[in-house]
Amino acid sequence: MPDLIISASAPEAGFSIVAAITTDLVREAQRRHALSPTATAAVGRLTTGAALLAASLKGKERLSLQIAGDGPLRGIVADAWLIDEERVGARGYAKVPDADLPLNERGKFDVAGAVGEGSLQVTKSFEIGQPYVGVVPLYSGEVAEDIAAYLVNSEQIPSVVALGVLADPAGVKAAGGVIAQLLPGADDRAVAALEERALNMPPITKLINEGSDAHALLHALAGGVELRSHRTIDVQFSCRCTREKVESALLGLGADELHKMARERTETEATCEFCKKMYVFTSDEVNDLASRLKKA
Ligand code: ZN
Repeated sequence: MPDLIISASAPEAGFSIVAAITTDLVREAQRRHALSPTATAAVGRLTTGAALLAASLKGKERLSLQIAGDGPLRGIVADAWLIDEERVGARGYAKVPDADLPLNERGKFDVAGAVGEGSLQVTKSFEIGQPYVGVVPLYSGEVAEDIAAYLVNSEQIPSVVALGVLADPAGVKAAGGVIAQLLPGADDRAVAALEERALNMPPITKLINEGSDAHALLHALAGGVELRSHRTIDVQFSCRCTREKVESALLGLGADELHKMARERTETEATCEFCKKMYVFTSDEVNDLASRLKKA
């Protein structure tokens, strides 16, 4: 099943809906960060959630989901944005990528246990102006419910969120998700109908395990409702890091620290926390950075 996002709306039923298969995306995050099975589920769910929400971004807008928790993962982060009109880029990581827990009593990844108690911060960055930041306490730590709680409580949009990752120690088998949100002006009946849809939907991991594509996920939640204006968008693991951004992070250390680094080692390595790409700076280059600070 190729990675793909499909969005649509059901104006009569009063909701919009977006579904995605993100197997390759989550597999790439797992590989780059050597995520444990539990971390794969946690990061995979959050990154899939970010990618689904990014389908409604415009232009250079960006979305970042950050879960801070006191569990063994110590926090997970995912970003998503539009690479262009037809592609969503997304990336994610866990602070402690090898943290792992036994399956919970339902035989599922113990994502809630690995995340712990904490908060979900959602940051939406625009092309110009201040970013919008919303923070909610974690509802369950299972990620999908936390994103739904954010959408309901912080953005006042009744929403249904289902996210699933199938993985074992051999790797990621399948991943995907679906989000339905009430359209502005929808009435109480639409809210009740949407909640009923969520209750009647088969478990998302079952659907993706059976080979559902993004269309099938869309219709599993939409039921028999007629959907309009389908839009398909590719989704892929991507990173926004550049050598210039790493340089500005190094500049933040200050001239004295940079000179010290240049004296102590012939090469300084800086690794992007999102994609694990390594940037290498020679001691001459580190000294050059330090002298830039002195000129400034
Ligand atoms: Zn990177």
